[in-house]
Amino acid sequence: MNERYDVVVVGSGINSLAGAALLARGGKRVLVLERNGYLGGAIRTEEITEPGYLHEVFSSWHPLFVGSAAYAELGEELGARGLEYLQTELPTASLFPDGTSAFLTTSHEANVEELERLAPGDGQAWGRVVAEFMPNADLAFGVLGTELWSSAGAGLGLKAYRRLGRRGLVGFTGSLLASCRDWATETFASPRVHGLLAPWVLHTGVGPDTASSGFMTRVIAVAVELGGMPVPRGGGVKLVEALAGIVVDAGGACETGRDVERILVRDGRAAGVVLAGGETVEAAEAVVANVTPTQLYGRLLAVDEVPQDVAEAARRFRYGRAGMQIHMALSEPPRWTGDERLGGTAIVHLTPGLDGVSRAVNEAERGLLPAEATIVCGQPTTVDPSRAPDGASILWIQLQELPARVLGDAAGELDPGDGSWTEDLRERYADRIQARLAQQIENLDSALRARVVLSPADIEAANVNMVGGDIYSGSCSLDQNLVWRPRPELPGHATVVERLYHIGASTHPGPGLGAGSGTLVAQHLLKPALPRRALDRLDSLRKRI
Ligand SMILES: Cc1cc2nc3c(=O)[nH]c(=O)nc-3n(C[C@H](O)[C@H](O)[C@H](O)COP(=O)(O)OP(=O)(O)OC[C@H]3O[C@@H](n4cnc5c(N)ncnc54)[C@H](O)[C@@H]3O)c2cc1C
Repeated sequence: MNERYDVVVVGSGINSLAGAALLARGGKRVLVLERNGYLGGAIRTEEITEPGYLHEVFSSWHPLFVGSAAYAELGEELGARGLEYLQTELPTASLFPDGTSAFLTTSHEANVEELERLAPGDGQAWGRVVAEFMPNADLAFGVLGTELWSSAGAGLGLKAYRRLGRRGLVGFTGSLLASCRDWATETFASPRVHGLLAPWVLHTGVGPDTASSGFMTRVIAVAVELGGMPVPRGGGVKLVEALAGIVVDAGGACETGRDVERILVRDGRAAGVVLAGGETVEAAEAVVANVTPTQLYGRLLAVDEVPQDVAEAARRFRYGRAGMQIHMALSEPPRWTGDERLGGTAIVHLTPGLDGVSRAVNEAERGLLPAEATIVCGQPTTVDPSRAPDGASILWIQLQELPARVLGDAAGELDPGDGSWTEDLRERYADRIQARLAQQIENLDSALRARVVLSPADIEAANVNMVGGDIYSGSCSLDQNLVWRPRPELPGHATVVERLYHIGASTHPGPGLGAGSGTLVAQHLLKPALPRRALDRLDSLRKRI
């Protein structure tokens, strides 16, 4: 006979595991079902180049998790289970083609001094940005941590109105809409400061000319100063193991190699799931699906369970640019030319500056391999030396300006063939990136022991939620973000099917390791049953009308 669980979770990404752990602590029996052979989704720690070199195959940096509501609640228990965060005072820098650089540290005074060095007045401007941000930080972070499509969302709006007044609220909302370019150039004089901040918009899934990217840049820049760039000692796998441990010790289970093929719906309510192979697992209270809208409405639910306009809205869900990862094992630490602080910085962006990021984003969005990509060069061993043998080092290199299908090469060098990411195209593009890095890391080629590259096609093959190699599981442009994520027609996490909830990077508050959607749904499911069911019924009725 099948076991019965209170909640069945489809997929084992950070939202699933954090949500499941919160539910388990709240007394629920939870089953997490993962189609891959490992738990964690985009968190995977492995010696993929050589023995002794521990790489984060996908996500690496945990400021969003350390700053999350889930960590606030689970942190102590995760610590008791062996999770330890390591920190750095040098989270990020940008390195420009002429060898000059700019740094953002965890010290406010040092940042004021650094930006003042780059242009008189820019240090003071940074002081004003932080001073103006902090009194309303709860509103800014609240936008990202609240179920916006709910009474809590309305409550946040009311709180903002009471504090800021009508004019103030209009001004605050307007300031959320500015692009990174407009905000950065209006606020700072130095192109070096613009080039320090602009690459960070890539980590929010947009580009520097996109509406609302100015707000994202501000939030991220302040968060970097406040929270640094923490990583778990020994890799993200430690977080995955600790979260899964909480679920299992509370009587739940986390199973791999289990592809969920269908959501079981009885009388308009989610009652369980059907696995590939036909096995059924019942869920007494809820099914929580960490999938894309494409999979939820196009595969897991039967056609007659989804109103036509909902299915149509899900079909319109757009995926964003694709990503590439390059992993390098080095026999010694990289020797950067220029400022010696670069050797101790967690993430160095190699960029020509704001216009360079803008150009590369635009080229990628037009289907081209960018001529001069923004190279995100992560140095995990600067924070956690245990990731490589003594005296050795690893590099975690990310490229976020790539097309899913390649129409051409903006540099006119590489033949895109039929547009698919072949092994040859992947390696030739990685060679171009390596050659650029070698101009600024003088021992790169001589210290390189092994290199492993993941193309957009490889990333999609590893995680079905990363459609086309989009590492953020859906474009984060404004019409698909915040209260409009995944789509304006499908806001929030409740779905057209009662007791079925949609979480993951495709849903609000979007991608990253903040575990926001899993936490919001877990909090909802831990509410007393009666008001929750009444609210759910209302929500699914509203979505069907
Ligand atoms: C290369 C890369 C680098 C990144 N770097 C960072 C970083 O440094 N810091 C950061 O904060 N964020 C980073 N991100 C983003 C972040 O990792 C993701 O947004 C986040 O991990 C997504 O979590 P999730 O809960 O949405 O689920 P995912 O991690 O996407 O996992 C979903 C899981 O569900 C499984 N699944 C899907 N359908 C089914 C089904 N039908 N049955 C069973 N299982 C199913 C999938 O196999 C997958 O394992 C990165 C992402 C990538 C890809």
